[in-house]
Amino acid sequence: MAKHILKCTGCGHYSLKSICPSCQSQTIPPKPAKYSPEDPYGHYRRQVKRSELIARGLL
Ligand SMILES: [Zn+2]
Repeated sequence: MAKHILKCTGCGHYSLKSICPSCQSQTIPPKPAKYSPEDPYGHYRRQVKRSELIARGLL
């Protein structure tokens, strides 16, 4: 699962699309964050990954 994730420059939402589905701002690759066990954005990534799987009909 090497799909790169993008971060919205407007609202900070993570998305795989080049335009944020929430606020229509441009999304950019986030800076590689050092790994944190707290991983405050982990649930965003899981949401994105899950919705991607659903979109592909894998779930
Ligand atoms: Zn946004």
